[in-house]
Amino acid sequence: MVLQDLGRRLNSALQSVSASSSIDEQALDAVLKSVCAALLESDVNVLLVKRTRERVKKLVLPQLEQIQAKQGTEHDAMAGNKAKQLIHKAIFDELVALVDPGDDAPPAFNPVKGKTQVIMMVGLQGAGKTTTCTKLATHYQRRGLKVALVCADTFRAGAFDQLKQNATRAKVPFFGSYTETDPVAISLQGVQKFRSERFDVIIVDTSGRHRQESELFDEMCQIQDAVEPDMTVLVLDGAIGQAAEAQSQAFKEASDFGAIIVTKLDGHAKGGGAISAVAATHTPIIFIGTGEHLHDLEKFSPRPFISKMLG
Ligand code: GDP
Repeated sequence: MVLQDLGRRLNSALQSVSASSSIDEQALDAVLKSVCAALLESDVNVLLVKRTRERVKKLVLPQLEQIQAKQGTEHDAMAGNKAKQLIHKAIFDELVALVDPGDDAPPAFNPVKGKTQVIMMVGLQGAGKTTTCTKLATHYQRRGLKVALVCADTFRAGAFDQLKQNATRAKVPFFGSYTETDPVAISLQGVQKFRSERFDVIIVDTSGRHRQESELFDEMCQIQDAVEPDMTVLVLDGAIGQAAEAQSQAFKEASDFGAIIVTKLDGHAKGGGAISAVAATHTPIIFIGTGEHLHDLEKFSPRPFISKMLG
């Protein structure tokens, strides 16, 4: 089920509460059943879905009982409305909690002008790393920061050309090499060059490969040691479904990234896997990719995201 469908399904489950004549435990179970089915079909992790159901029930049931005790009195209609609002709010809050790692997660990283900050992008090949590097560079550039890109992907043929092309189109200075095959050496040279030129943000694009091989992780750690990024960002393909959880966990252990960017949420992505990655790694999503073009990058905040999804 694609993300828009998930929104529609969740919305119609919530509407069914509004339309219902009596609100009791049975009605709550019915709406939770629809909500949970929609989440599961969107590839949200089964344990997370179970937790969502339990938390809503635990919160709503005692209050529902209190409200029910008042039914049969002149407060009937008011009590019914209160119960509906209670269920709506509890489900909405739990949906937000699914994409919010909570207050104890590391705060979102906000680069500032006047000092050099290095951002290292990691993720599997095809996730959208190179595209996202330029999108992110453009985003920071529009905020007045001096941004540069470094291509440390020496594994994929054509990676440097792709970054070069994107960077040129976006008018972002870039660094890479056709001859140097050591990604650690390239990233270090690039970062040193732009650091000495007092760039505010240096974004390092790293190699992806298809699987989470140990060589990939070794290389990632060596680049990290060399360039000492202020922030490592995992770029996660929004369309990979259930695999997102294991993948993000493996990257977390290897690179301890501090933020996630989920790509391809414009297309046929179910999105639920990416949602599960937040919980699995206790890390915030900071942006989502919503298309192939330079400006198809949206800032991510849990509440507005859920509100928009519900339409
Ligand atoms: P990398 O191997 O991780 O560097 O991935 P690329 O940046 O080369 O992207 C792989 C493919 O995904 C390319 O065809 C991109 O145009 C496409 N892509 C990246 N981000 C998005 C996105 O947000 N939406 C859509 N629809 N396509 C995207």
